[in-house]
Amino acid sequence: MGQVADLLRSLAVRPSKALGQNFLVDGAVARRSVAAVGPGDRVVEIGPGLGALTERLLETGAEVHAIELDWRLFAFLRAGLAERFPGKLFLIQGDAVKLPRADLSEGDREPYAVVANLPYAITSPWLDALLQQPLPQSMVLLVQLEAADRILAPECSRDRGAIAVRVGSAFQCVELHQIAPSCFYPRPRVRSALLRLCRRPDPVLFSSPARRILRHCFHVRRKQLRTSVAAIGDPALRPLAERWLAELQGAGVDPLARPEDLSVDNWRRLEEINFHLQSPAADAKSARGSPW
Ligand code: SAM
Repeated sequence: MGQVADLLRSLAVRPSKALGQNFLVDGAVARRSVAAVGPGDRVVEIGPGLGALTERLLETGAEVHAIELDWRLFAFLRAGLAERFPGKLFLIQGDAVKLPRADLSEGDREPYAVVANLPYAITSPWLDALLQQPLPQSMVLLVQLEAADRILAPECSRDRGAIAVRVGSAFQCVELHQIAPSCFYPRPRVRSALLRLCRRPDPVLFSSPARRILRHCFHVRRKQLRTSVAAIGDPALRPLAERWLAELQGAGVDPLARPEDLSVDNWRRLEEINFHLQSPAADAKSARGSPW
């Protein structure tokens, strides 16, 4: 911990709350975060900071694509780790919400993983931006406990919102550990969690219309489903929302349920219907054998 404080002082960096600069100082948590990474893996790291995770990732023989917003930390890493691991660390300076996969592009089809000790303020917007193709195979995320509760919120829980539905539609949580404030410098006021998420074999990503309906329903979460669908103002979204509601009813879901009561499969159905409405050939095919 003293070493990190000294290093920050020598770089004239005072840890910024706004940038979520709580640096990992616990070796066991760092080891656990990179445990599933091996030689030749491609890993995206968000906010490498002073390189606590980056160095361990590079030592496994992985190729690391990292994005850091703070130019002082970026310059420190470029002069240090990038020189020590030439051709293995691809470091850019920028905002991970705008570039959620660092320098990997949307057209990139090669598999990759994510490892990140995420700055609190960007946890939701970064996940929101990441949940598009190409999806990572797996993610190890250090987040505030409260954010972990929202990401993993089960059906019927008060914490459940659009982010839990979208993450749950594409990933399964295979590991969850509470992490004490003493594992970071400076110590955050709250506890953290380490999550390991693996991509589902059948991930569903929500395209824009389905995403808008999902957000609308959670925005008016006190309303019953039937009422919130009826309140959708955009006529372009109505046919999708109404067909989805009718299918839910047909499958035995109570139209008086609230959005948090629906299962991940109920929500995934919204995107599946959207897909069928946009490609009638797929619709005709699925009509022959009900996908439900
Ligand atoms: N990975 C390092 C570690 O584990 O010690 C640092 C983690 S610290 C919680 C978050 C890091 O993300 C900081 O280095 C911060 O400067 C950086 N950061 C904050 N906002 C960012 C953004 N929008 N895009 C990229 N990096 C960001």
